[in-house]
Amino acid sequence: MTFYRGPRTYMSRWDIEKTYGGAGAASASVVSDVEAISYHEAGHAVVSRALGSPVAEVFIGANGGGGCRSVPARPWAEGDAAQAKLLNAVVSGLRPSARARNTFFPDLVSLAAGGIAQRRVGVDRRHDADDRHKIETVAAAVAESPSAARKLIAEVERKAEQLLGVHWCAVEALARELVRRRTLDGDAIDFILRPFKVHGRTSAIASMKRMAR
Ligand SMILES: [Zn+2]
Repeated sequence: MTFYRGPRTYMSRWDIEKTYGGAGAASASVVSDVEAISYHEAGHAVVSRALGSPVAEVFIGANGGGGCRSVPARPWAEGDAAQAKLLNAVVSGLRPSARARNTFFPDLVSLAAGGIAQRRVGVDRRHDADDRHKIETVAAAVAESPSAARKLIAEVERKAEQLLGVHWCAVEALARELVRRRTLDGDAIDFILRPFKVHGRTSAIASMKRMAR
């Protein structure tokens, strides 16, 4: 099917990306806030699943934020600054150890994936200040020294980068649907991600079955 669109008097997003080097190099002005948040939340969700954690919901909030809820819930790792108190309660009970570090490593990687995903589409508008605060707080609590904490954060970021690279098509598919629908529950996430073979299941039914076992 062909459509006659009349003379082209403006540059579409496609034109801009084609001219300036593709979505990966898109400038901040090309990507809207909603798209930036969608990539951010899709990054959290896809990497959580790749690490075996089901995701119950991703959403874009009315006030410009968004969220990604995991199953079982890890409230300290989700939501916004309101979780700071809970995070402090969690880390106050931690002592530096390899075990603590390993326990929190997947959550830290999932947390880091949001900011990295949004930067991959050219947006560095600090949607991830809250995530960074959580990563730094937990890393400081589980690592033996500030330099060990920095090493841990570098390792977390490398792992998040790697998983986002492997599953980038899935992130794009999820982000696109999130822009359109603003909220996706576990079943919708399962459906969208099915063709991409990202490990881990998200639907409430799947996790209930798992719990019943
Ligand atoms: Zn985030």
